[in-house]
Amino acid sequence: MVSAAFQSVSTIDEYCCMFIHMCMSKVPFGTDQDGMNILGLVVFAIVFGIALRKLGEEGEILIKFFNSFNEATMVLVTWIMWYAPLGIMFLVAGKIVEMENVALLFASLGKYIACCIIGHAIHGFLVLPAIYFVITRKNPYSFLWGIFTALATAFGTSSSSATLPLMMKCVEENNGVSKHISRFILPIGATVNMDGAALFQCVAAVFIAQLNKVSLNFIQIITILVTATASSVGAAGIPAGGVLTLAIILEAVGLPTNDISLILAVDWLVDRTCTVLNVEGDAFGAGLLQNFVDRAAKKEEELTDVRLEKDPSVPTPECSPLIRKQGLKDRSGADGFQADHSESIM
Ligand code: ASP
Repeated sequence: MVSAAFQSVSTIDEYCCMFIHMCMSKVPFGTDQDGMNILGLVVFAIVFGIALRKLGEEGEILIKFFNSFNEATMVLVTWIMWYAPLGIMFLVAGKIVEMENVALLFASLGKYIACCIIGHAIHGFLVLPAIYFVITRKNPYSFLWGIFTALATAFGTSSSSATLPLMMKCVEENNGVSKHISRFILPIGATVNMDGAALFQCVAAVFIAQLNKVSLNFIQIITILVTATASSVGAAGIPAGGVLTLAIILEAVGLPTNDISLILAVDWLVDRTCTVLNVEGDAFGAGLLQNFVDRAAKKEEELTDVRLEKDPSVPTPECSPLIRKQGLKDRSGADGFQADHSESIM
């Protein structure tokens, strides 16, 4: 595990003389290379986490240790972020001096920003609403209108965590999501579900590869997708949270991590649309869960109705219609007349 933090194994093809007759053929060899074995560490962390959970109480000591280690690292990062503007300025200045064609750098940065924002817009206005519509058959844009203030706050603060209380209020008051669903799903979503971050991290990785004239092969693209999903889960819901974990993706595909300074320089803009998408995904998640719960409750009610109407083994004919009537009244005040009516028919 320690060596995985410094070295990874990669396969190279070497020509080798197989027979005395000088027949040269390509043979794959595994060699150690400098650089973190990110995928190995991510897989280890997942399996180790599952093992700790299985341990129960005994594993809690280690979970607490890692949690406080994480908190302490976050405090260090907050201190470092105080001088980030100065640091970024020097990093970007160094990059500009290195570049032969500065205009090209700014043009490609502009394209990077445009690509991220267009990607966020497509995902936020088309993909997520389409998923919501297909599953619930309800208008996703009226759902979006209900959380508009929360989305505006996400845009202004660039922080999912800061938007969380307002998002809870919006989905509960405007979109009819019940408290026990919103208070369960939204805090998890604010830390784990980050569509916007995953999207911009993939674009950023490809941008840095192109800047360094590295062409990515199929395996590297799949690696970017997998690590971006994992690193967006690990990103904190704070401004520039996703840029910090971008290093994981760059390390995984062997790209230079110091180019993150360029991404950080324009992140004040990209992070806004990214955060909007992060919180929008959480809200739609809460809406979908509410829909599933409503559907399950409706099915349960229908089943109860059918059982009471059709089952001859229902033993208390005096009592059951009253229960049914009560149930129907509870469901909706307007149904009261219907309930009375149906009872009289029976
Ligand atoms: N700022 C984002 C959020 O709070 C995280 C990120 O940087 O991707 O959701």
